This record gives sequence, C-alpha cells and structure tokens, in this order.
Amino acid sequence: MDDRFYKERSDLAAVLRWAAREGLQEAAGNHCSLSVSNSGDKFLINPDGRYFSTLKGSDLILVDLNDHTGTDQANISAWLLHGQILQKVEKARCVLHLHPKYATVLAALVDSTIYPIDQVSMRFYGRVAFDSEFSGMIVDQTEADRLCDKLTDKQILIMGNHGVTVVAPTVALAFDELYHLERACETLVTAYMTGQPLKVVSEEVANRTSQDWQDFSYSADLHFSELRKVLDKEEPDYSN
Ligand SMILES: [Zn+2]
Repeated sequence: MDDRFYKERSDLAAVLRWAAREGLQEAAGNHCSLSVSNSGDKFLINPDGRYFSTLKGSDLILVDLNDHTGTDQANISAWLLHGQILQKVEKARCVLHLHPKYATVLAALVDSTIYPIDQVSMRFYGRVAFDSEFSGMIVDQTEADRLCDKLTDKQILIMGNHGVTVVAPTVALAFDELYHLERACETLVTAYMTGQPLKVVSEEVANRTSQDWQDFSYSADLHFSELRKVLDKEEPDYSN
C-alpha cells in the first residue's frame, strides 16, 4: 500500500464501512472520494463494483488526473464528477455521492425542500442546493460543470431524480452531514406518509437552530471518533 496516504486511506475506508452499516450504499455502486493534494488533482476513490463493507484502505484507488494514473480502474462518471468537484469547489476535500433511501425519495418529489420540522431538518435550513436537470446515468463535462456550480456556495446537493452529493473540508464533517441529511429526510418522508400537515417552525427558529448546529461543528469529529472506536474493535482490517 502507498504509505504516504495511510491516514487518508484509513479515514475514507472508515466512512465507507460505516456507510455500509447505515445502509447508505445502493448495491455495489456509489462513490466517495478524498483529496490528497492541495489542488484536488490527486484523490482517493473507491473501486467500482465493490461493497463498501469489504473495502480496506489499500483497496482505494489513487487517481492522478495529470498523468491518468488510476483513471483506468475507476468508474468513468465517478472520476470525472469527483475530480471536477475536488478541483473546482473550494471547500471540497471529501466528496460523498450516494443514493440513500429517504434522501432519494425526497429527490424524486416535485418539491424536494427539507422543511424545518425537527432539530435535524433545521440543521439544513438554507444550506441545501437543488439540481433538477438529471439527464441520464453518464455524467459528462457539461453536467459536471453544472453540479460544481451548484456546490459553489452550498455543500449539500439534492440531485433531483438521482440522489445526494455532500462535500466538506474533512472526512468527519462530510460523513456527519450525510448521516444527518438522511435522518432529516427520513423524518420528513415519514411525516408526509402520515397524511397530516407538516408543523413547520418559523424562519427565525429554523435559522437560529441551523446556526446552533454550525456552532457545534466539533460534534462531527466526536461522531467520527466514536464510529472508529467500534470499527477498530469489530472490523479493524478496514485500515489495512
Ligand atoms: Zn449516483
């Protein structure tokens, strides 16, 4: 294994293993990446067609867009989309693109707004970008450019008729955002299923609660530290 990026490989493998435990992967698809260079032209990404639950740090592909190292092993749409985001979106060091059940249900509705109806959904108030121009499974340069533009001032993207993409400066924050995003969508979709009207809080309360979450951003590191303790004990091979 390339020991220069041992920590990055271990961090990303931990996220993949925990995403599997949370049921966030769809079959053997979906991709997560982590930049290992300042410009984002070198990054780690999971190999195509593998369960997250079996991946180790050494299984992750190191892609170098300058000399095309690794690009022949990676999913073509994934390396294009992740590579573009990691190079063009300032705060994106880690990119998680998945089709989690409840977030994808919300992305399939005409109105994909995450209404502020509980503390977790309020976390995302005013922080989510939406894309409604899905045109097929293969991402081309035009689509990659469009999605990058959507992520310029928002780090969470609901991709209509598709899934979600979360970007963040750290692995811990990216996973914490993804985890809570799926929880917020689960609560909202479940609320819709009751058939009763939503009890949406005021803009003032939603904004204040969203800010409270930002003020407690260190909780993402605590979350990541705790899940790693479980992985270190129950499936320590993820770091290998
Ligand atoms: Zn996708």
